[in-house]
Amino acid sequence: RAKEQGGGRFAVFDETLFRNATMRLQLENALREALAHQDLEIYFQPIVRLSTGRLVGFEVLVRWHHPEYGFIPPSRFIPIAEEMGLVSEIDHYVLSSALATLARWHHLYPSSPPIWIAVNFSGQEFQTPGFARSIRNLLRTHGVRPEDLHIEITERVLLQRTQEAIEEITALERLGVPFYIDDFGTGYSSLSYLHRFNISGLKIDRSFVQNTPHSPSTQTLVRAIVAMAHALEIAVVVEGVETVEQMTLLRAMGCEYGQGYFFGRPLKEQEAEEWLAQGRHTFPIDESTASNAG
Ligand code: C2E
Ligand code: MG
Ligand code: MG
Ligand code: MG
Repeated sequence: RAKEQGGGRFAVFDETLFRNATMRLQLENALREALAHQDLEIYFQPIVRLSTGRLVGFEVLVRWHHPEYGFIPPSRFIPIAEEMGLVSEIDHYVLSSALATLARWHHLYPSSPPIWIAVNFSGQEFQTPGFARSIRNLLRTHGVRPEDLHIEITERVLLQRTQEAIEEITALERLGVPFYIDDFGTGYSSLSYLHRFNISGLKIDRSFVQNTPHSPSTQTLVRAIVAMAHALEIAVVVEGVETVEQMTLLRAMGCEYGQGYFFGRPLKEQEAEEWLAQGRHTFPIDESTASNAG
């Protein structure tokens, strides 16, 4: 009987494994297909200057709605794409679609200063010689200024620090493309990259942002991050701002930019374009008038 039980357990174990491997393979195939058929979409989440409530840009976020499996979040498929070596292709697709959209918006709805886009890069592309050159060519093709393309990378990317990555990042900095450290505070704690590279901004992770109102120690931490960033002439963006309380507090702490459901969820291209067409360039950030703008 023990043997049977053991056999049974193994059978169940194998089946689970098989199912996961099959699911994984299906997901991989579906992802290849989505890329080939350009089924990935890009969404745009507003970024706001906290002192004025002015819309300054959009973060570009990839979305995948599979006809059969439904919505698959980037947190699920980006890591798989990284392992498959497909993520550079995704990032490139996202970047060129977003640049085409931005160029059209600049043309149709000019503003001064022009709005920017912030694009996420997983870092694999920095290992490829010629990456900076390909970005420069894309910017030229679409007629977008380097300062209107903000690149978001995580601390992990800078810490890998291969010779290739250093050369590509340096070349992009020389070109005038601003770099932001995404999810700041959640990665490794080595800060030496902050002065080794010419970083334009830190995006403080939403876990800090959301704890700020009720955690004095988080407030201390955020104040210290802001002080350090400003001493190095680095701007601070706060991610995941959901309430007027968070927004007011972080603005008072000197954070320059905010992003989160309080201002708006990631929007379909068409919705973002309607905002611009209607001249919705300013958000109610005064505590007495503010309501969730999402
Ligand atoms: P991220 O770059 O830190 O992007 C911010 C994430 O926070 C987005 O999740 C956004 O929808 C979410 N978010 C924004 N405001 C709020 C808020 O107020 N509350 C809460 N709870 N969440 C908020 P999303 O779109 O699911 O993306 C997850 C991550 O996937 C991104 O984190 C980024 O690391 C990665 N990602 C997204 N698009 C791309 C892409 O095109 N390329 C690469 N390599 N990675 C991407
Ligand atoms: Mg990001
Ligand atoms: Mg982030
Ligand atoms: Mg991230």
